[in-house]
Amino acid sequence: MSLENYWNEALKKVSTTMDAGKAMWLDFINYSGEDGDTLLLSCDAEMYRENFNTECKKDIQKALDTIANKHIEIDLSVNEEDKKPEKKSIKKEAPTRKTNSYLNKNYTFDNFIPCENTNFAYTAAKAIAINPGSSYNPCLIYGGVGLGKTHLLESIGNYIEEKTPQKNVIYVTAESFTNDYINSLAGKKISDFRIKYRKADVLLIDDIHFLDEKISTQEELFHTFNDLYEKGHQIIFTCDRPVSELPNFTDRLKSRFTRGINLSLTAPDYETRVAILKKKCEEKNTYISDSVINYIAENVKTNVRDLEGSLTTLIAYTNLLQTDITLDIAKDQLKHLISAPTASEQDISLVDITKVVASYYNVEPTQIRSKSRTAIIKDSRNVAIFLSRKITQYSTTEIGNFFNRDHSTITHSIDLIEKEKKTNSDLAANLDEIEAKIKAKAK
Ligand code: ADP
Ligand code: MG
Repeated sequence: MSLENYWNEALKKVSTTMDAGKAMWLDFINYSGEDGDTLLLSCDAEMYRENFNTECKKDIQKALDTIANKHIEIDLSVNEEDKKPEKKSIKKEAPTRKTNSYLNKNYTFDNFIPCENTNFAYTAAKAIAINPGSSYNPCLIYGGVGLGKTHLLESIGNYIEEKTPQKNVIYVTAESFTNDYINSLAGKKISDFRIKYRKADVLLIDDIHFLDEKISTQEELFHTFNDLYEKGHQIIFTCDRPVSELPNFTDRLKSRFTRGINLSLTAPDYETRVAILKKKCEEKNTYISDSVINYIAENVKTNVRDLEGSLTTLIAYTNLLQTDITLDIAKDQLKHLISAPTASEQDISLVDITKVVASYYNVEPTQIRSKSRTAIIKDSRNVAIFLSRKITQYSTTEIGNFFNRDHSTITHSIDLIEKEKKTNSDLAANLDEIEAKIKAKAK
């Protein structure tokens, strides 16, 4: 396949995973040729290049390397007029790094803003970075999507790389780790694979929930883990829930992971949301008025990624139209994001869902939200939680707040029903029936 094909495949791949606010910058980038393993791209303005580099490059790079199964260098140039005078040809500059740690240099402790709830995770992550492999090994960072797991994980890596460049820091997503493993099996290069990962002084693996059900990759990771652990090398993982709640993880791997320190990340509170928005404006050299910042912070509560997405939309608007953002413009531009939980789902509320589920199972709505562990109440609670996640746009954290449960209990309930309905056709039918009743009520 030519690099042009890889580029097109990579675009397709990231289009399903990237935030729309970030992915939009890809529209301004064109394929313009290739030179060995260097992919030549072009765009019409420096601004597009900068935004591509900060918002899209990392994801595209990963996708390209995965698809091509080797490192593809990206060379993005700005077409004549807007070219920076010092722009140099970077085509053939050989990278001098020990390994490709693929760390995103934008993720640092300095630009991570902890709140009261996440301060412990932040402080512990810093302690690990200062003194890797000593007291907090292994380390697991867990929490829902967009709450800063990758940011914190890469901050540790960046800090160590900066302070001790001789240390071999390897960052991979669990998905790349799996692909790497499968490719090494196919190419009979398993010993290369093992050498590569066991050479790590610090191994960072992102999103290990991806390995659920991938038993042979888990097995391989188990051996990598043991090898590094015995040598006192630091291992850090992230996961979207506590490892104990991964249904298909082997017990021995779970027990390895939970041996060290477990750090949980939760959604930021209002003050932290404001602080994060202000910090991001500062980073992007953009002024946005306090009233608009407060408006976003009041309305976008789900996670930091959504906060950033809102800001990216507004910044693109001011840059492209050269106008200040007023509160009205902000409301208009963000209406798809902010009204999403209700308008798109015909105003279905968690209260309504709870009522319908309660009447279906002949229990009281208050019992569903209580601490009761009676079987029927527990079952109806799991169903209510599952359906809340399925039909509304509320985050697991918000659903947790409503049902008086923590985030991990919510994901556990959802997984439980998800799994059970595959084998229990009665349950599957009941769920459909209840869902129809809820939707009918909302009309
Ligand atoms: P996760 O890996 O948990 O899905 P990320 O680490 O990718 O989330 O975070 C999503 C975005 O939000 C990133 O751009 C990250 O820099 C930003 N972010 C998350 N938490 C914070 C924080 N506490 N302070 C500043 N930025 C944050
Ligand atoms: Mg992540």
